[in-house]
Amino acid sequence: MPTPTHDWHARATELSIDGRCFIDGKRVHARSGAVFDNHSPIQGQWLAEIERCGPADVDAAVSAARRAFEDGRWSHVSPMGRKRVLARFADLIRSHQEELALLETLDMGKPIQYALSVDVGGTARCMQWYAEAIDKIYGEIAPTPRNGLALIQREPIGVVGCIVPWNYPMIMAAWKIAPALAAGNSVVLKPSEKSPLTALRLADLALEAGLPPGVLNVVPGFGAEAGEALALHNDVDVLGFTGSTRTGRRMLDYASRSNLKHVYNELGGKSALIVFEDFADLSRAASTAAASLFFNQGQSCNAPSRVLVHRSVADAFIEQVAAEAAKYPPADPLLADTVMGAVVDEAQLNTVLGYIQQGQAEGARCVAGGQRARAESGGFYVEPTVFDQVTNRMAIAREEIFGPVMSVIRFATEAEAIAIANDSPYGLQASVWTDNLNRAHRTARALRAGTVHVNQYDEDDITVPFGGYKQSGNGRDKSLHAFDKVTELKTTWIRVDEA
Ligand code: NAD
Repeated sequence: MPTPTHDWHARATELSIDGRCFIDGKRVHARSGAVFDNHSPIQGQWLAEIERCGPADVDAAVSAARRAFEDGRWSHVSPMGRKRVLARFADLIRSHQEELALLETLDMGKPIQYALSVDVGGTARCMQWYAEAIDKIYGEIAPTPRNGLALIQREPIGVVGCIVPWNYPMIMAAWKIAPALAAGNSVVLKPSEKSPLTALRLADLALEAGLPPGVLNVVPGFGAEAGEALALHNDVDVLGFTGSTRTGRRMLDYASRSNLKHVYNELGGKSALIVFEDFADLSRAASTAAASLFFNQGQSCNAPSRVLVHRSVADAFIEQVAAEAAKYPPADPLLADTVMGAVVDEAQLNTVLGYIQQGQAEGARCVAGGQRARAESGGFYVEPTVFDQVTNRMAIAREEIFGPVMSVIRFATEAEAIAIANDSPYGLQASVWTDNLNRAHRTARALRAGTVHVNQYDEDDITVPFGGYKQSGNGRDKSLHAFDKVTELKTTWIRVDEA
């Protein structure tokens, strides 16, 4: 999708932002009257007042969702009928692509060209795909003895609570709500307080597409208020959470303290990209590692933030990857050709700069970047940064930085590379670069990660599951597997007597 040649700053001044909640098909104020300010990381400028939802608003949203589910206004609509509405929703996302992309870029600082192609494009594709999938899924008949017939069917689970992060606000929301709505559930969505704008607009568009009131509700607000109220609510049947491992831990606690709702966590990562000495095209490995890590300012859960390189090619790799880093200069994300924008806010800027200092203090060698950039803009930018001489015990190798910081670790043998890659609490993704077919299969099997890439990174498609091993979470977003999380499996036994 080409980036239209607009003056996006001028477009931004014309935007009217509605920060009210979306409950039972209507834009409403928070019951307490509380609001919070939403700022852009591009220049630190104020964007809008957003309603600050609390337990009373969440309760109203869950009640609306429950009523909608029970009276069948959506849950009883035929799969083909639901498909039509969701396909219209996907069309409306496409026809509002510029507004949605602009909101996303203003809200969290990503380059407008990617907000258009990746975020809006990915959201529309996701909605379309689940719309088209839902009337093609059949139940099963079990191979039981002749005196019985066992029908196995998937039923919508009821009210689905979704809590999502700020790094891909629209896509993360779409991965949760598209399968939930397609399966006939009602949804209450809590976007991140750092990026609530597109979720609210998506709800307007869903209503316009014909989704009945109450089926999709959006409650903006803070994690400890709106998020906690939703996760603790006794009438929420399943909680789909995407965010940090720290908050994911709380989700399990909320479930155990309330109604034992099912919890699916999509959490953090510290993914390893392993470059073996037999891989001939070192420059492709270096450019892909840089592109995958620096995309979205390094704020991707699956970013290959640990790059493991065989010591015989490490010097050459470091030189190339440092040169690649220079191709991602932080710039104004509203310019059409910007490839590296702002990090989401000042707190995130300080977190990233703090890790850079810690890396230096622990003895890693900074070979590219390492500084704040564009401070005069009033926004929050970090130079693409590469560390050499990292060990897997350093904080920059163990903890998720969620910024444009690459840690290069040298290794001597295949066994050592696998051991280092697996020595992490996370297990989201991994990547192996080798020209040896046996080594590719062997190492892909040995890596404890939800996705392993061979000789590439970031290949992505709505048809494949996304999720992690270990403390990167449970369950899977995307693909038909996502339906497992938002449906219950029901068996109906029918006795069949012989004549
Ligand atoms: P976060 O955990 O701080 O917040 C995520 C969401 O949880 C937000 O909506 C927030 O308001 C809410 N929240 C925070 N505290 C809460 C509480 N006490 N109770 C209820 N809700 C609460 O994460 P973040 O900083 O927004 O996002 C970055 C994280 O998300 C990274 O760790 C990243 O790896 C992860 N992530 C994972 C995936 C994946 O698919 N595995 C995808 C994207 C992002």
